[in-house]
Amino acid sequence: MAGLEDLYREIILDHYRNPRNRGELPVPPARRVEGFNPLCGDEVVIYLDVEDGTIADLRIAGQGCSISQSSASMMSAAVKGKTVAEVRELTRAFKAMMSIHEASLGEGDGEGEALAPDPNVPLGDLEALQGVVKFPVRIKCATLSWNTLAQGLDEAEAGAG
Ligand code: ZN
Repeated sequence: MAGLEDLYREIILDHYRNPRNRGELPVPPARRVEGFNPLCGDEVVIYLDVEDGTIADLRIAGQGCSISQSSASMMSAAVKGKTVAEVRELTRAFKAMMSIHEASLGEGDGEGEALAPDPNVPLGDLEALQGVVKFPVRIKCATLSWNTLAQGLDEAEAGAG
């Protein structure tokens, strides 16, 4: 499937060269969360504006490798305007895609049991990142922005009372 791999590479490069939702939001009212991947030196900063349980707006800053930055760009495009519940589902689906491939790499079958993917959660462009799993050290690059977003949502929900 060389054709599909080329397509995936194009999508990743496009997000890297033309990152979506790049910038900052005033804090407050927005919330600022930071994630760091020491394995690669990637840094992702997310400015998150959650209103009435919906991601009203978000911006991405930070720097790092092409995988981490394009993943953050794809993530921002995928979650903007969605409800927090939808975003959590999407996060689960994305991480399931990455962990399934991680588990299929061979080491210790059985352990690190793969999460079942939810066919009802379409991943769209995010599927382009599944090629990354051939390079296990880069998986954390791809999941960094999602873990950072999850942390921001946790904080937003804890603070919204
Ligand atoms: Zn990286």
